[in-house]
Parts: sequence; structure tokens; C-alpha cells
Amino acid sequence: MRQTIITVKDLKKNYGDFEAVKGISFNVLEGEIFGLLGPNGAGKSTTLEIIETLRSKTSGEVTVAGLDLDAFPNEIKKIIGVQLQTSGFYPSLNLTELIDLFAGLYNETIDPLTLLDTVNLRDKAKSKYKELSGGQKQRFSIASSLINKPRIIFLDEPTTGLDPHARRNLWELIKNIRAQGTTVIITTHYMDEAEVLCDRVAIIDSGKIIALNSPDKLIDELVATGFERPKEVKQANLEDVFIHLTGHVLKED
Ligand code: ADP
Repeated sequence: MRQTIITVKDLKKNYGDFEAVKGISFNVLEGEIFGLLGPNGAGKSTTLEIIETLRSKTSGEVTVAGLDLDAFPNEIKKIIGVQLQTSGFYPSLNLTELIDLFAGLYNETIDPLTLLDTVNLRDKAKSKYKELSGGQKQRFSIASSLINKPRIIFLDEPTTGLDPHARRNLWELIKNIRAQGTTVIITTHYMDEAEVLCDRVAIIDSGKIIALNSPDKLIDELVATGFERPKEVKQANLEDVFIHLTGHVLKED
């Protein structure tokens, strides 16, 4: 049995009189990829940022790796990885120098090239952030979340705006990070991505969790209601055409 690493109990967040998060409860298990899905404005970022200790809650209980959020926010910060704001990527520094800088801030010693290997960016070690492609920028941003060797990382829409190859490369990267034992919490608007990556997903709507299960079970539950998808008449879709024409999955992005 996997251990629970995050517990959220009856979490509420009000902005003035507006209830953005209306008493949600869920657990995240150690070593899983857990997806938070939902329409814009559902309360996903608010929930994540509360767990990340970046935003205050109105009420409820949150525990991360056995640490109570109210009592031990600084200890929690040490064991979680959050993608740094791109504004922190000083334009005059190359990737190696940026990693050295962030490692210093975290008081960590880390070999920048080893970290860049993890995200397949060793050959860009001397490049500046602004010189990277969209996919490479996202990979570097994920690398920035790994500097303090966290037990849990939070990825907020990591593949938004990326082309199909770059998205698939990021999926591989996220799976590799999980394979090292890191728990991953991810938000995405791409349901294909959630289906491929997530062990379990919580679907949030208007501040409430309306479903929580593995993608497979949620699909089975829908099918059991008699739902049937309009039959696909073709054996491929336009994304297959794109991937087929522009190269294989691990093409550089
Ligand atoms: P999501 O990440 O699911 O798109 P958010 O957590 O960003 O949703 O927002 C949930 C709701 O709370 C939205 O209606 C949003 O407008 C509102 N909201 C978010 N942040 C603030 C804030 N700082 N002040 C007031 N309202 C906010």
C-alpha cells in the first residue's frame, strides 16, 4: 500500500464574500501522478497554492508529509518543488549559471550538468533562457523545481502552448521524475494528457470536487451509465498526421 503524502480536509478559501474553494477533501499518495482538472476559475490554482504555502486558506486542514501546514510552512517548503517564475530567470545568465544561483538560494550543492541531463538540456548549458524553444523553456522550468531534491513537485499546466512533440517529450520527463520516486501534482486542460499521465484525477468545478478516481475508472463509470461516444470512422486523427509528417516522438523540441 502506498502511503498518503498530502491530506486536504474540508479546505475552504474565500476571496471577500466569494467562495472560491468550498470545502474540498482529498489525499495524494506517495509516488503517484495526481491530476487536478477543471474549467477555468474552478479553484485549482488556489488549492495548489495553498498546499504550496504560497496562499492563505480560510479554513480546513492540510498536511504535507506529516507536517501540518499551519505549524510547519517552512519545513513544507523544503520538501516541495515549485516551478520558479520565469521573471527569476535573469537574462544575462546562462542555464548553468541560473542553476548555480538557485542552488545557492536553496543552500543545495548540485551539479548543473547532471540536472540538465535529467531534462535533456545538457547541450544548452551555455545558452540563455530566452534562446530556448517553448518545450526547452518548460523543461528548464521543471528542472528549476527539482533543485532542492523535493519529495513532491507541483506542475501548473506544464504543457500549455507546446507543440505535440514537445508535449510528448514532457510526458516522458514527468514519468521519469515519478520513476525516481517523486510525487507529482499536475494541472492540465488536456484530457488526453491526464489520461496518459495521471494515476488519479480530481475534477473540480465551482470550488467543489465532483469526481475523484483513476482516469480508467472514471471512463468505466461513464460508460456504465449507457454513455456512448459517436463512433470514430477513421483510424487516425490530425495529430497522428502531424506527428507522422514532422518526425518521431522524441524529436528535439
Ligand atoms: P483555476 O486555477 O481553476 O482557474 P483559480 O483558483 O485561479 O481557478 O480561481 C478560482 C476563483 O477564484 C476564480 O473565480 C477567480 O476569479 C477567483 N480568484 C482567484 N484569485 C483571486 C484573488 N486573488 N482575488 C479574488 N478572486 C480570486
